[in-house]
Amino acid sequence: MSKSLLLLDLACPNCGEELTQGNRIRLNGWIRDTGQEGPVALSAVFGDYSIETDLDIPEGTVIDLRCPTCEQSLLLNIPCRQCHAPMASMDLKAGGYVEFCTRRGCRAHALGGAGDIDAMIGLVNRLMNTPHD
Ligand SMILES: [Zn+2]
Ligand SMILES: [Zn+2]
Repeated sequence: MSKSLLLLDLACPNCGEELTQGNRIRLNGWIRDTGQEGPVALSAVFGDYSIETDLDIPEGTVIDLRCPTCEQSLLLNIPCRQCHAPMASMDLKAGGYVEFCTRRGCRAHALGGAGDIDAMIGLVNRLMNTPHD
């Protein structure tokens, strides 16, 4: 595993379909405010906020993220501790899961960047120590 680039290997918690392709996580996005819908690619790099999409997502917008295969929403009934927008969750193929805020511009928006140091360290340890077979 590369030490400089920590990639998150993620799968849909509903259907198990692999969501990480290369260094991108391919999802469908839906913006409640405007009704816009389309593909959204999050960075699979741990802690990277970057996002690629044709949708117009201003800072502060909440994106409803869905699995492109089973169309299930990835949103949880858990509010972000920083901004109270819904959190989303994806399964880590290495075991466990990641949660992140669905509001663009929130500090907790980056994967693994929820601001909880213990949780982040636990996640990194899990990613680095998981034996690949
Ligand atoms: Zn799915
Ligand atoms: Zn938030």
